[in-house]
Amino acid sequence: MQYVTGGPREEGCVFCNRLREQHDTNALIAHRGETAFVILNLFPYNTGHVMLVPQAHISSPEDTDDATTHELADLRRPVMRAVRRALNPVGFNIGVNVGAVAGAGIAAHLHEHVVPRWPGDANFMPVIANTQVLPEVLPVTYAKIRAELQRELAGEADVQVVLLDPDGEATLLAEGTFPAVSAGPEEPMWAAALRLAQQLGVRDAELIGWAGAQLAGQGPIVLAVGGVLPAQQAVGSTAAGDLLAPEDAQFLANAITLVSARSDTAASTE
Ligand SMILES: [Zn+2]
Repeated sequence: MQYVTGGPREEGCVFCNRLREQHDTNALIAHRGETAFVILNLFPYNTGHVMLVPQAHISSPEDTDDATTHELADLRRPVMRAVRRALNPVGFNIGVNVGAVAGAGIAAHLHEHVVPRWPGDANFMPVIANTQVLPEVLPVTYAKIRAELQRELAGEADVQVVLLDPDGEATLLAEGTFPAVSAGPEEPMWAAALRLAQQLGVRDAELIGWAGAQLAGQGPIVLAVGGVLPAQQAVGSTAAGDLLAPEDAQFLANAITLVSARSDTAASTE
């Protein structure tokens, strides 16, 4: 089985670099543990392709210490549950390639692939090999998986929702902060966020990305949702930023950055 791990060359180790950046939203790190972390593949074999990676720069499972071995194994269940709830796959490929001869794209730093599968995707993927055309954009997939993983590992089912108009210039507040909702037992966090948006009269609501803290595992679950806001209740983003507590103002700023990154991408592909 072929896995697509590598991208453009960069200095040093891709995994060590991402971990060192301390900017998990950019790095697509969905969870930081004690000795291991979970990262989305920037060049995924399929939507929702994540990797379980030791924090130490080691190349083979036989070199991991006990703590790392256990944490990598323990992460498999919450990661699978999170991906299943986030994306509703029908199956998974899970595996480790040790050494370049075995197909490891980044042979120097061990990583275990967890690749969700749907009927027909195996026929579809070779056609678009080496392109970035995927059914869902990475910031959206990242937000879904990070929210579910935090739910699995921290036992939270509440999501705060930063609602933004298409320009990012207006938002909706509830009692001086962002509206929030609890996801049902089987309901994905992202679906709960869209349900709340609809209840609040937002039209054409869609998930934009993760608006919470940059470092995985810190702060509440916060998702950015875009749509057409009910005009009477919309608050200008600048005015809202002044009203909010500093942490919430940062979440609003994160969401606005996501909206402008999206419109930049849309403009460059037209
Ligand atoms: Zn490394």
